[in-house]
Amino acid sequence: QRVEVPHTEHGIDPALVDERALRVVQTLADAGHEAYIVGGAVRDLLLGLRPKDFDVATSATPEQVKALFRRAFIIGRRFRIVHVVFGRGREHEVIEVSTFRALMDPAAAEAVDANEKTVEKARRGQPEVGNTRVVDAEGRVLRDNVWGPQIEDAARRDFTVNAMYYDPQRRLVVDYHGGLQDARAKLLRMIGDPATRYREDPVRIVRVVRFAAKLGFEIEPATRAPLREMAALLEKVPPSRLFDEMIKLLQTGHASASVAELRKQGLSRGLFPVLDAAFADGPGAAAPAQRQRFVELALADTDRRVAEGKPVAPSFLLACLLWHDVQQGWQALKDRGEAPFPALQQAVDAVFDARVGDISGRGKLGADMREVWMMQPRFERRVGNAPFTLAEQPRFRAGFDFLRLRADVGEVDAALAEWWEDFSLEPEEGRRAMLDELK
Ligand code: ATP
Ligand code: MG
Repeated sequence: QRVEVPHTEHGIDPALVDERALRVVQTLADAGHEAYIVGGAVRDLLLGLRPKDFDVATSATPEQVKALFRRAFIIGRRFRIVHVVFGRGREHEVIEVSTFRALMDPAAAEAVDANEKTVEKARRGQPEVGNTRVVDAEGRVLRDNVWGPQIEDAARRDFTVNAMYYDPQRRLVVDYHGGLQDARAKLLRMIGDPATRYREDPVRIVRVVRFAAKLGFEIEPATRAPLREMAALLEKVPPSRLFDEMIKLLQTGHASASVAELRKQGLSRGLFPVLDAAFADGPGAAAPAQRQRFVELALADTDRRVAEGKPVAPSFLLACLLWHDVQQGWQALKDRGEAPFPALQQAVDAVFDARVGDISGRGKLGADMREVWMMQPRFERRVGNAPFTLAEQPRFRAGFDFLRLRADVGEVDAALAEWWEDFSLEPEEGRRAMLDELK
């Protein structure tokens, strides 16, 4: 049942609506299509927050959308959408436009026994090829491109607060699932049967945790109940998608809260190998308290940077999360008489094999992590030209920030981190003088 909420009731501040999103909605509406701002942006607007990105949902097909804008690109296969691009370079902005999607229609579905998948063909006379939905034997949706009416589009979304539509021209919120009440009560409620919805897409397990942390919402009991039992399903999610979700969890300004929420829901183990490493405290683990503190500091530091509008690199945080693994291996090798530098190299390789196999294909990210780690022993060598070379490295800043975190937990002398801070700020002669002083 469709509820139209007027602005006197929802109170959304039009000034918080991005003008490019507004333009997209207007262009689509002028061409005779239904178009709304949808999802997270509506939720944030209702909470009085400025959304960081805007999604638009429309009755127009991707081809029809593309034809209406100068720079628009159809992307995705699993989930075909259109990116409408405004501006260039750093300032550019993308509005994601998705076509209303249909609910699964059992009548239109046919089982494809050979690979245990169910395929639902496009319906309602849709001419385009590739408009299909594919569901595997466990109910996981592998592809979702069957168009339908708005009411069905709403029902396929994850949480009630994520399933509202905002018409900025009429200033109306369209709500089918009581999202407005739930937003006011600060509740995350899954639409439909929670267990079924987690099975369709296990990534929703991570999403509910992320939203709880980000919004400070409670997870409604029925939505929370199947969480732990369902967590094992995340193994079936392609690692690259899971990795993206983990990055969202850790890099959007709510890393500390997200990790706390994972713990609260009993999900801190087994979701992401990288996070397992950060919380490993089994027998033989080195100084669990210090490890814990290092990870917590790194998370808090990331949140602070995001809050200050500074860039955050996934490689840096990942390097932090895996550092104690690296250190443990490094120490063991040194104890066996290996020289420090090659020992570190070996330890890094071993950690990559054990934990980071899941992010292979992201070469740059791995290379950056390695570099941050490999720089660490070089901070201890303050003789000859070595410090000059180190300070001129393009990744020096990241390596240094990492050193400072280590100093903050007492892993290296605080004076060493301060020395490097000063050194990096001095001109050539000052640097020479600093080195002479050490002799
Ligand atoms: P954020 O603030 O993190 O961007 P969001 O709600 O906008 O939050 P997105 O991942 O950008 O999250 O997704 C946009 C919308 O698409 C969601 O609000 C939701 O309606 C729908 N959606 C996204 N992912 C899923 C999913 N896995 N299952 C069901 N609906 C989803
Ligand atoms: Mg979004």
